[in-house]
Amino acid sequence: MHADPAVEVTALVKRYGDKTAVDGLSLTIARGTVTAVLGPNGAGKTTTIETCEGYRRPDAGTVRVLGLDPVARAAQLRPRIGVMLQSGGVYAGAHALEMLRHTARLYAHPLPVGPLAERLGLDSCGRTPYRRLSGGQQQRLALAMAVVGRPELVFLDEPTAGLDPQARRATWELVTELRAAGVTVVLTTHQMDEAEQLADEVAVVDRGRVIAQGSPDALRGTEARLRFDGPPALDLAPLRKVLPDRAVVTETAPGSYRVEAELDAALLAAVTGWCAEAGVMPDRLAVQRRSLEDVFLDLTGRDLR
Ligand code: ATP
Repeated sequence: MHADPAVEVTALVKRYGDKTAVDGLSLTIARGTVTAVLGPNGAGKTTTIETCEGYRRPDAGTVRVLGLDPVARAAQLRPRIGVMLQSGGVYAGAHALEMLRHTARLYAHPLPVGPLAERLGLDSCGRTPYRRLSGGQQQRLALAMAVVGRPELVFLDEPTAGLDPQARRATWELVTELRAAGVTVVLTTHQMDEAEQLADEVAVVDRGRVIAQGSPDALRGTEARLRFDGPPALDLAPLRKVLPDRAVVTETAPGSYRVEAELDAALLAAVTGWCAEAGVMPDRLAVQRRSLEDVFLDLTGRDLR
């Protein structure tokens, strides 16, 4: 793998008037990986991505994309990156396929337009003017335009927002193939399952900064919940004694028990061992690891932005 990162953002600040949209954000993205940038509405994701694409100039901090300054070196960078914007940026009267062909001609070694249009279900609406395409078709066209030039790096801003399940799946397959071909993919999403499915690395952005970064698995951690049902009002003191100090044991409803702890096989054995001692059959015993959504809500809070 290439040692230099694909994207290196250091202490980026971006303001709109007196509103600070990005507030000292740092982020490193390795080549050949898929990174999902998550964050509440207005967290600064799109602003950061647009700065990486060279559409916005940093107020402070530095941005390097494939080692280049995306504003000063835009001419060198543009042929090497693919960009899918959240909305628009296209001439609304143009036909879908015409636009894709036009974009393909800007690159030295584009993908064949026909097969790409077909796999994204755009062949049937090829002669439809852009403004008459459905939202999902516009979205798929934008994705096709981002990848048609065989870029080394693609930025996808909410690539599957508003897509039907078929198109969402086709998009996921395309991202997986890009990764297999060594392309670096940076995407924003509000769909936690999408991040879990696609991303090697997740960066959580809140109030203009990265507040957590790691693989989905690492972010979910080893903390888990173990639940089981049994007779109500069991004496839990002996169970607490055989569990690590940090484990929290509660009867959440009469006869429903929950153990929250760093989970490993020894802990599971301790709980079932105690059940055996106490003559309790742990009914519907289940282990639940924290989901990425749990982690996200813990990190960013539950208030609407
Ligand atoms: P979302 O998940 O809703 O797409 P985001 O994380 O992509 O949000 P940004 O679009 O980067 O967030 O917006 C960050 C902040 O900057 C928001 O408060 C937004 O209102 C503000 N903002 C974004 N673009 C502009 C602009 N052109 N002029 C003024 N304020 C802007």
